[in-house]
Amino acid sequence: MEYGPSPESNADVVQWLDRHGRRFGHFIEGRFVTPDGRPAIPVRNPATGEDLATVVCGSAEDVDQAVRAARKAFGAWSRLPGHERALHLYAIARHIQKRSRFLAVLETMDNGKPIRETRDLDIPLAARHFYHHAGWAAVLEDEFPGYGPLGVCGQVIPWNFPLLMLAWKIAPALAAGNTVVLKPADLTPLSALAFAEICQEAGLPAGVVNIVQGDGGTGAWLCGHSGVDKVAFTGSTRVGRLIREQIAGSGKRLSLELGGKSPFIVCEDADLDAAVEGVVDAIWFNQGEVCCAGSRLLVQEGIAGRFYQRLRQRLDTLRVGDPLDKSTDVGAIVSAAQLQRIQGLVQQGLDEGGVLWQKAGPLPAQGHFITPGFFTGTDASATVCQEEIFGPIAVSMTFRTPDEAVLLANNTRYGLAASIWSENINVALDMAARVKAGVVWVNATNLLDAGAGFGGYRESGFGREGAREGMYEYLAASWEAAPDVGAGAGVDAGADAAGAGVGATDAGAAGAGAEIEAGAGPVAALCAAPAGLAPMAGPAVDRTAKLYIHGRQVRPDGGHYYSVLGPQGQVVGQAGLGNRKDIRNAVEAAAKAGGWSAMAAPARAQVLYFLGENLAARSEDFARRLVGDAGASPDRAREEVRAAIRRTFYYAAQADKFDGAVHATHSRHVTLAMHEAYGVMGLVCPQAAPLLSLVSLILPAIAMGNRVVAVPSAALPLFAMDFYQVLDTSDVPPGVVNLVTGDGASLAGTLAGHAEVSALWYAGSAADCALVERAAAGNLKACWAVGSRDWLDLQQGQGRAYLRHAVQVKNIWIPYGA
Ligand code: NAD
Ligand code: MN
Repeated sequence: MEYGPSPESNADVVQWLDRHGRRFGHFIEGRFVTPDGRPAIPVRNPATGEDLATVVCGSAEDVDQAVRAARKAFGAWSRLPGHERALHLYAIARHIQKRSRFLAVLETMDNGKPIRETRDLDIPLAARHFYHHAGWAAVLEDEFPGYGPLGVCGQVIPWNFPLLMLAWKIAPALAAGNTVVLKPADLTPLSALAFAEICQEAGLPAGVVNIVQGDGGTGAWLCGHSGVDKVAFTGSTRVGRLIREQIAGSGKRLSLELGGKSPFIVCEDADLDAAVEGVVDAIWFNQGEVCCAGSRLLVQEGIAGRFYQRLRQRLDTLRVGDPLDKSTDVGAIVSAAQLQRIQGLVQQGLDEGGVLWQKAGPLPAQGHFITPGFFTGTDASATVCQEEIFGPIAVSMTFRTPDEAVLLANNTRYGLAASIWSENINVALDMAARVKAGVVWVNATNLLDAGAGFGGYRESGFGREGAREGMYEYLAASWEAAPDVGAGAGVDAGADAAGAGVGATDAGAAGAGAEIEAGAGPVAALCAAPAGLAPMAGPAVDRTAKLYIHGRQVRPDGGHYYSVLGPQGQVVGQAGLGNRKDIRNAVEAAAKAGGWSAMAAPARAQVLYFLGENLAARSEDFARRLVGDAGASPDRAREEVRAAIRRTFYYAAQADKFDGAVHATHSRHVTLAMHEAYGVMGLVCPQAAPLLSLVSLILPAIAMGNRVVAVPSAALPLFAMDFYQVLDTSDVPPGVVNLVTGDGASLAGTLAGHAEVSALWYAGSAADCALVERAAAGNLKACWAVGSRDWLDLQQGQGRAYLRHAVQVKNIWIPYGA
């Protein structure tokens, strides 16, 4: 069928560009500033090659000025009641809607994407994001009691969804009470400036939103600026890794939304017509320049021939061309460089034996266009099957069984999204559980909404955007706000701090005693009669702690031990000096203990209750050790032991209660926000409250189904020996908890660099944190610095924050209702 051209008018945008003299700068403290002497970045329309304007490339001073403005605005903005911030966000949302046609045309001209998509998707979703987060601002005090903003956020976004990515960054930051400095991509700087105008029109206080234009260097200045408290980035995995390394040890919070190579799985019982349309939306939408694009088609063998045939037919009906034309399906690639990159990868796919199916027909004579298509016959190890093409070209492979589909799906270093097509709910949900991806669409693809979390597993980054889980990326607990990257507090500090926590702990312990009276005599006895402990003498020097790996006490690989000194400098025992090999063995043991993650939550809870009982039975030993090794007073020692027992029961209770949510999104789906274990976690424990802190880190991690490799404090490692005896008697399966003692910093470095470890909690000096966070950039593991805190305190030492850091949220969209 032939269509006549039906271009959207760009008159408004041309007028707007002219009004600004086609030269743009930054938006700082509520004003547009165009400093002299900065390099100019050309802004091009990729569909025509036409120069639209120039923007200045921000310098370090420009960044500094913007960060100062954001800091200045922070106090008043963060003190506004949530409902007043909500009014500002509502106003922005309404202005975006009012200017939606203008914004859609502007975005299309700058980026090259079809007007149909900017009009129906980019702009409405951006407005929706501000509406949704206006709501979070309004209910903030209710929904996040005890939490507040982080400060100034430095945000860097890519060019594929310029305004939408801006909305994803700015809306939650502002809702939580932060102020921001945002750097758009140098290829698509314009819609951010239109947004800045909206901020002015809507009366947003000066300095709350600042936009600095520039390239990667400008972005690096922003991320590295000492006045920035939180960095949020969306873009390539390469740059995400650079940023992780750059800000290691700074104490800044970080969220990363990176690349993907997401599977699109078509089972033989799928609705093939719907699945074909799904592919259109998965990989040919937005020219394939989509981080969550369904770029790896996995098709069940029996239907592959038929499916490919239909796909080729559908491909031929796609209209490639003028993005401003309302009937265009596929527009221009964002830049000549990106086009070359895609063409290079396509050539590589051909060289590696792939068969390329492309739409027939010519491309526009000018502009950066490429014909959409897909490869068949590519090997799973081929470059095009592993690398993000970021263009409208999918690769395709076949599978025989659902098991094989899951294996193929997870055969990538990424884990952003997955799309699963099957009419059989059992098959679809079984796969949804097993794919390693932060977002899963069942019989759908590329559904995005502010009400659902979005973000990756593995090298697709960490952190979520949207929904409740996204809000936490911009909030800190009030007790967290104090800088906490210092050295793990010494025993003395811990003992001092204990005073404050005693009352609360006492009350709680009594409660716990009542709760478990029925089955757990020792705990009840301990809580009822704390004075029943035997006199505490320093122990003899005959204790040698081995390492604990896969449920067994093992000698350290190097065969070395070190002397552990007591409070008076006397030797109180020997501990194994673990090395890299020991860490690797421990990680291997943890990796093999996957059964723990698969176990039903109530069954895990049962094991943890039993652990609590056995800990209680050994409470005298632990208290004595705290006196002898750590120099605690008998009272303080009992307090700590009681708190550790109580904490164990708390996490046993939470094992089947810290569950996910069903999000309310704009379409007819139940969107399950599942809490999934990371898998293998590394825990580097502090020295303060050595028993309690060990328990405080291990328990939430394993309660949520993780298996852990813990490095007990080097100065006080002997508690670990007592603890593994408790583990031995508690039905904790081998490999779920592994303990490696030795030099904390170097073991932490090995853990941080290990590709099998997906998340890491660590205490240590700022220098140790820097080392760990740099090493963690390798596989982009999620890091959480648990610096000095009062472990006895019920807010600081336990709670939902620990559980939240022990899971990653997987959002699964399932069709629901007609
Ligand atoms: P990029 O990661 O280089 O750019 C993204 C943003 O980061 C831009 O604003 C850029 O100016 C900025 N930036 C670059 N270097 C920086 C640094 N060292 N510190 C701080 N900020 C920095 O992406 P790109 O070069 O535009 O595209 C390259 C590839 O990245 C694409 O082909 C695609 O595979 C991938 N990509 C992914 C996404 C996504 O949404 N996940 C988006 C864009 C590109
Ligand atoms: Mn452009």
